[in-house]
Amino acid sequence: MKLDNRTAVDNKILEQVLREAARGLGVRTSGVGIVVSTSRYRTNGVAYMCNSFRSSRGWLNTDCGFFKVSLPLDLNPLRCAERFYSTARHEWAHVRDFQDQNGQGTRPFSKRVNGRRPKHDCRPEELRAYDYVDEADKRIRRNGVVIAELACAIQGVLSLRSRNRQGRER
Ligand SMILES: [Zn+2]
Repeated sequence: MKLDNRTAVDNKILEQVLREAARGLGVRTSGVGIVVSTSRYRTNGVAYMCNSFRSSRGWLNTDCGFFKVSLPLDLNPLRCAERFYSTARHEWAHVRDFQDQNGQGTRPFSKRVNGRRPKHDCRPEELRAYDYVDEADKRIRRNGVVIAELACAIQGVLSLRSRNRQGRER
């Protein structure tokens, strides 16, 4: 994977959760671009079918797609880590779908109705992504250790931040 890590968490910790999130989905991970940034509360993810993406190091080629996922940093690090894992897993499933189509967009995608796209969960590409994840979850047991390690790293970032804040207030 081509990780563009915009967070204070180590690449290695993020990479192992991202790899775990891809497991069992049948997605080719090595050429896929991933941008990880932090968010205060919400976890957002979005996947794009494309051959290149703009990383902080400039444009990089991808294997049919890339996705962005945010790492929430709030006071429950384990919940943050869980949300990051499941959002990344969902986005990997979209990339698997793009790779199946060889980046051609041949399967049905949602169309705009009266200028608006249907609600997220009703889109055909979303249903396919949910199916890939469901099917994979039946076959593999996820490795909770890597999620716990991410939670510890989030805790570390949060304590560092609060120490810095106290330092400034003194
Ligand atoms: Zn989706």
